[in-house]
Amino acid sequence: MKALVFSEKAMQAAGVAAYLKSVLPGVEVSAASFSEPSQDELGLLGGAGVVKVWMLPQSAWAAGEPSASAALSELVAKTEAEILAVWASKTGNEVAARAAQRLKAPYASECVSVEKTSEGFVAKRLVLGGGYTSKVLLKHSPFVVSLKASAEVGVGGQKPDVEKFNVSSSGPVIEFVELIKPESAHVELEKAEAIVAVGRGFKKKEDLSMAEELARLINAEIGCSRPISGDLKWLSEERHIGLSGKRVRPKLYIALGISGQVQHLVGMRDSRTVVSVNTDPNAPIAAESDYFFVGDVYKILPLAITRLKEKLGS
Ligand SMILES: Cc1cc2nc3c(=O)[nH]c(=O)nc-3n(C[C@H](O)[C@H](O)[C@H](O)COP(=O)(O)OP(=O)(O)OC[C@H]3O[C@@H](n4cnc5c(N)ncnc54)[C@H](O)[C@@H]3O)c2cc1C
Repeated sequence: MKALVFSEKAMQAAGVAAYLKSVLPGVEVSAASFSEPSQDELGLLGGAGVVKVWMLPQSAWAAGEPSASAALSELVAKTEAEILAVWASKTGNEVAARAAQRLKAPYASECVSVEKTSEGFVAKRLVLGGGYTSKVLLKHSPFVVSLKASAEVGVGGQKPDVEKFNVSSSGPVIEFVELIKPESAHVELEKAEAIVAVGRGFKKKEDLSMAEELARLINAEIGCSRPISGDLKWLSEERHIGLSGKRVRPKLYIALGISGQVQHLVGMRDSRTVVSVNTDPNAPIAAESDYFFVGDVYKILPLAITRLKEKLGS
């Protein structure tokens, strides 16, 4: 069985190689590099059991991820590697996905382990903010994984041979056109001590003014569930909290009309005190709340604002 490993950093490539050697006995591991490895790097890769380093043209890397993945997929085909294992950095994930697409190969990203079973290769991935692990069966070879798994690299191993590999196709080239700054002022929800978060319990954008008034009175930032910023566009993307948004840990988190789906919860469950208002007594946010009010935000918010104003004398 042959595997090809790749990372922008030799240390990570060596870690992945050592990991594959530890879980797949007998695997022959080569590494791909877009620059000439130093003697130290070759020592490291040798210590991990890498037998060969293929040097791909630096221009393929410089031209961006599509071109780098074209070169890698060509190398997989040439070496007949059954596994392409890429260190799961941001760039690595993209390069691996594009290489898999070119190879028409199964792909699993952000894996924490790979093992061989009687059905095929099984990769484990952390999902839903790391709260769960999913198992993915990779039925065909070659397959591609992006991995965050490594094993101890030995010292004093035999340095691998280095061979140049000239790619025939350059792949699509991407060109940087423009950096577009977000329109809104920057919001640092992660540092906020208090957050008033709004969800689909609000019927119109204008109604958010109630939540904004509450936030002003208690010196809180406004946050939201994803549908409010992503689908309805009532607030900027910077304010959405959860798996695909910000992870926050304020002293006080007030959730108004938010159901509390797991994708939202992973972004706010480190809050110290959670207060929520929801018409549904069975809304999942209840289990995360220190104070849970069953009721209508349209009735409770005006009352709360009036009482607060009385208390604060404003
Ligand atoms: C890959 C993926 C990533 C995602 N990432 C995120 C993420 O990062 N953050 C996120 O938030 N979501 C995320 N989602 C979406 C998530 O699954 C939910 O759809 C979303 O969190 C629901 O938003 P919500 O609670 O505002 O709306 P709903 O689930 O529709 O809940 C609205 C709640 O308001 C209550 N309500 C209705 N009327 C009133 C009223 N008048 N007064 C009081 N309560 C009322 C209802 O009882 C209900 O509980 C993601 C989904 C996917 C698939």
